[in-house]
Amino acid sequence: MDTETKRLYKEMGISDDVCAFGEAVLERLAERFRQIDETAEYNQLKVLKAMQEAKVSEACLLGTTGYGYGDIGRDTLEAVYANIFHTEDALVRPQITCGTHALALALMSNLRPGDELLSPVGKPYDTLEEVIGIRESKGSLKEYGISYRQVDLLEDGSFDYEKIQKAVNEKTKLVTIQRSKGYQTRPTLSVEKIGELIAFIKNIKPDVLCMVDNCYGEFVERIEPTDVGADMAVGSLIKNPGGGLAPIGGYIAGKKECVENAAYRLTSPGLGKEVGASLGVLGAFYQGLFLAPTVTAGALKGAVFAANIYEQLGYRVVPDSTQSRHDIIQAVEFQNKEAVIAFCKGIQSAAPVDGFVVPEPWAMPGYDSEVIMAAGAFVSGSSIELSADAPIKPPYAVYFQGGLTWQHAKFGILKTVQSLKENKIPGCCILSDKL
Ligand SMILES: *Cc1c(COP(=O)(O)O)cnc(C)c1O
Repeated sequence: MDTETKRLYKEMGISDDVCAFGEAVLERLAERFRQIDETAEYNQLKVLKAMQEAKVSEACLLGTTGYGYGDIGRDTLEAVYANIFHTEDALVRPQITCGTHALALALMSNLRPGDELLSPVGKPYDTLEEVIGIRESKGSLKEYGISYRQVDLLEDGSFDYEKIQKAVNEKTKLVTIQRSKGYQTRPTLSVEKIGELIAFIKNIKPDVLCMVDNCYGEFVERIEPTDVGADMAVGSLIKNPGGGLAPIGGYIAGKKECVENAAYRLTSPGLGKEVGASLGVLGAFYQGLFLAPTVTAGALKGAVFAANIYEQLGYRVVPDSTQSRHDIIQAVEFQNKEAVIAFCKGIQSAAPVDGFVVPEPWAMPGYDSEVIMAAGAFVSGSSIELSADAPIKPPYAVYFQGGLTWQHAKFGILKTVQSLKENKIPGCCILSDKL
């Protein structure tokens, strides 16, 4: 690192020893970063090709109001998504308010009373518990007479094929597969692994629908779940595919009938995809999607860097420093409450927005322990931007993700190391040796 950059780091609170430690870790990551860049290059071409083939024009960037009939920008964007995911159709809308909404929509529109939903990969993401009715909620699938069955992953994170075989029955209509570990320390599923699971299930019951919760996974690999047999891939636009620019939105890419069902549910029977004004967001949707492969690559580099830094410092990290990556989340198990808080304060202090704010643990509704969250984002709640969350309970793990640029992710991680150092985290003895 040149002396001017080092001086600027110092002005921004990163001491020479922390800087030097970061550089030493970084030196060994050249090959990993080269592979990430190659994936980004491939996905950049995939997105560009889809935009050109759909004949995206300047008119597509403008929006409609009112009913939104004949919104060429909206319809073309959906064709672009369908091309990228190699699906028959896609629904990409600002009226889909978040990832949970997109997932709930895909489930509620493709299941009918008497059907059963199966999760063969263990407990789904927290917010889906109320959608399914695992935790009681108004309007849950359970309330509409849709039952739920779950098969947990085996101890080592692999599929429990024996129990899955038994769980599929005459009522099973839809199988939900969460790609990302979310806020658990199980491994994230590779697209290849998801393909094996789908093949196994379709072999038992060919007409069962397979939906993949693709949140945090888009553009991390060259293929997506819909390339290996998924009937639907579902996600949020304020994560990877929005590229940090989409201010709202969700998507469902999949079989024509699945997408049609979702559209009829989102708007109204009979109206479906025909209505839904795009207002002024299409420019951001297109430009964000265009940037998404490189933004995702930057976030991935940040995750790999964090894994290597914290493993060096003696903590358990998931995935570990060398494991292959299938989402952008990095977990660090601190086994220490103060360390978790210091880490989150470090992330917050690196933010371009609200960088002066100090995060504190609080009793957030819906969680069974206090939670601390660090985020200073241009788009509120956007977790493709540099952010960290941690429930304040053993094993005191922090879930770190995002970074619109690799350079910003790097700075954020150095800030966390600095914060741990300055807070003299007890039990973190090895830190002083390494620094
Ligand atoms: C973020 C996420 C969701 C829910 O998305 P929201 O936009 O927060 O509602 C669902 N599943 C996974 C795996 C996620 O990461």
